[in-house]
Amino acid sequence: MTAQQVPGIETLCAPDAMAPYLVDWRGQQRGRGRMVVLPRSVEEVVRVVKWCGERGIPIVPQGGNTSLVGGSVPDASGQAVLLSLRKLDAIVKVDPQSNLVVAQAGAILQDIQQAAAQANRLFPLSLAAEGSCTIGGNLSTNAGGTAVLQYGNARELCLGLEVVLPDGTVLSDLAGLRKDNTGINLRHLFIGAEGTLGIITAAALRLYALPRAKVTSFAAVKDPQAAIALLSLATEMVGSGLTAFELMSRSCVESVHRRFAELPAVFSPVPAYQVLVEISDQDDEAHANRRLLGLMECALERGIIDNATVATSTAQSRRFWAVRERVAEAQNPNLKHDITLPVERIARFMAQAEQQILAACPGAQIIVVGHVGDGNLHYNVEPPPGTESAALPALKTEIEQLVYALVAAHGGSISAEHGIGRQKVKALQQYKAAPMLQTMRSIKSVLDPAGLMNPGVVFESAT
Ligand SMILES: Cc1cc2nc3c(=O)[nH]c(=O)nc-3n(C[C@H](O)[C@H](O)[C@H](O)COP(=O)(O)OP(=O)(O)OC[C@H]3O[C@@H](n4cnc5c(N)ncnc54)[C@H](O)[C@@H]3O)c2cc1C
Repeated sequence: MTAQQVPGIETLCAPDAMAPYLVDWRGQQRGRGRMVVLPRSVEEVVRVVKWCGERGIPIVPQGGNTSLVGGSVPDASGQAVLLSLRKLDAIVKVDPQSNLVVAQAGAILQDIQQAAAQANRLFPLSLAAEGSCTIGGNLSTNAGGTAVLQYGNARELCLGLEVVLPDGTVLSDLAGLRKDNTGINLRHLFIGAEGTLGIITAAALRLYALPRAKVTSFAAVKDPQAAIALLSLATEMVGSGLTAFELMSRSCVESVHRRFAELPAVFSPVPAYQVLVEISDQDDEAHANRRLLGLMECALERGIIDNATVATSTAQSRRFWAVRERVAEAQNPNLKHDITLPVERIARFMAQAEQQILAACPGAQIIVVGHVGDGNLHYNVEPPPGTESAALPALKTEIEQLVYALVAAHGGSISAEHGIGRQKVKALQQYKAAPMLQTMRSIKSVLDPAGLMNPGVVFESAT
């Protein structure tokens, strides 16, 4: 141990050991740090926070490091301590009677899902990074994923938090009460704050009954408007049994089939758009299947969809889901926009955005995948082959501004579920209403007056 380390806390200082913590999942954001600390208890987190506070050292909290906006890696200054929550990974209790699970922040999402399932309960948060991301990171980014339609995002699944504030104070509220109207509910400040207000060390989370049956189908539609019509019909016919509604453009589906040969096309030729529809049911599989078939038959009769395939086995259903889940890995480097729109504006937005992008960048390919029931689109633009890499930064800026301006014009948001991180700080200044930004800054300055918590993330850097 050297004088530069926090006494008694597991610390990595060797460049090789630190390297994986200093680069983001996409390999695009590389930072530097003075050390990586791996506390094993809330008391150790408090010690690290106080040690850093006394020395004016910034802290970057990190969970599974799957952030898609560069929020979990430090900047290039080399000043920050990276505080990894990975060793704080206990699932403290699963209580099926109270439908409650309490887990430490570094618990992997998939482990929480499995612990819940062993108790015959469902923890519904589900996203493609679930084998790596942590519940602390999920809550800090207010993660969404594929089950938001029925269960809400991470915020809705949280009943309480334990948080270490920048001055070392511990706020603890892990009883999991469903009703507690005793003034301002502080947990909501930390959910979605991306580590800028404090460090989440544990959470109390809601559990649900495990659905008895889940059935999946793909529907082929000619355009986004038809997908929205299918969503509306599904809401009428299936109600809260509709658990996923994921739109994919032809370009998106083809990228998955090209990259993953074990996932053959469901429709041939691949339609302009296809929607993955999942229905959950508390009855049995036969009942769920009848509901899904009934929905698809009605949609076909009304001319809303052109074709549909209902998975006939769990294995086939998993393959359908794999097509959706492999999208992120299947794509070439492209310009990504995680946006949200009022559902009824999606089709108009997509038509206008495509027209404007192709005018600005002829030959560009637009790749859309979306949790469309939540109004959330991952709207990605791949520049035409042969685009000079020197031209990319200007093109990125032009297309991003075009997309965000259109999102704003339709009353949407420039970040649906990935957060702001380092990548969207400027855009946030541009598109978030000034009174809201000012209120966010006021809260930050009260809780973190020295600006040591994840500087440069969400808020503009002080320097
Ligand atoms: C393949 C893939 C698919 C994805 N799909 C989705 C999706 O469908 N929906 C979605 O919402 N996101 C998705 N993401 C993004 C990412 O998985 C989520 O943002 C996830 O919630 C981050 O969790 P993490 O533990 O990896 O956090 P990290 O990436 O480590 O951190 C994310 C942010 O939270 C902060 N943070 C982390 N832990 C804590 C803590 N304990 N206390 C305070 N701050 C903390 C970090 O400083 C950072 O700002 C996807 C990512 C990948 C790679």
